Amino acid sequence: MAGKNILIVEDEEDIAELLEYNLQRQGYATTGVGSGEDGLNAVRDARPDLILLDLMLPGLNGLDVCRRLKAEPATKTIPVIMLTAKGEEEDIIAGFDAGADDYVTKPFRPKVLLARVKAVLRRGAAERRSEDDPIEHGPFYILPGRFEVAVDGTPVELTRTEFRILSFLASRPGWVFTRGQIVKAVHGDDYPVTGRAVDVQVAALRRKLGSGGQMVQTVRGVGYKMDDGTGIDSDSEIAADDLS
Ligand code: CA
Repeated sequence: MAGKNILIVEDEEDIAELLEYNLQRQGYATTGVGSGEDGLNAVRDARPDLILLDLMLPGLNGLDVCRRLKAEPATKTIPVIMLTAKGEEEDIIAGFDAGADDYVTKPFRPKVLLARVKAVLRRGAAERRSEDDPIEHGPFYILPGRFEVAVDGTPVELTRTEFRILSFLASRPGWVFTRGQIVKAVHGDDYPVTGRAVDVQVAALRRKLGSGGQMVQTVRGVGYKMDDGTGIDSDSEIAADDLS
């Protein structure tokens, strides 16, 4: 991952410096700008491999910048990690709706930030995965084309919708998805899929997965993700199975 170019769009200088310091120490090249307009110009000048985008910016805000980048064929594949204030769940959801790929809350721990950056840069490879390739993650061995899954070598029977939710999350470990994104990705056909229905499906999925169920994590106020094994995501928690 060293040598990748990261564009930092952040108007608070001390935060921008902290980001640059931590990223450069890991071998990343960084460019820093302090406004949304400068961010868009910087992307045009030299396409970055990833953008760290603050939401609260003078002038054009982070959401607008993200929407513009994601609307342009030339820039829409550049991954964007948004920087949000801790506890601003509406910002996180708005950011995902604007097309952001992930988020880090401020104040951030360098370890968390670097893990997210690495995961996002790795994502490109995951996206190129063929639909029929097996997904191996943690205790799971998933055959997407055959709707088969084994947990620690033991086959588990799932409904198609449960299976699709599991494969979707497991193919992108560590990625947080909103209920809306899950509904869109899963296209459930055996019942009308709503956000609430996703909660019910996930609860059933966790029960059926047994010891593997705890890998499917609730991200409070946002949605769900597959545990990526880094164990450093303080924003996540495993929800009580309160729908059973
Ligand atoms: Ca700001």
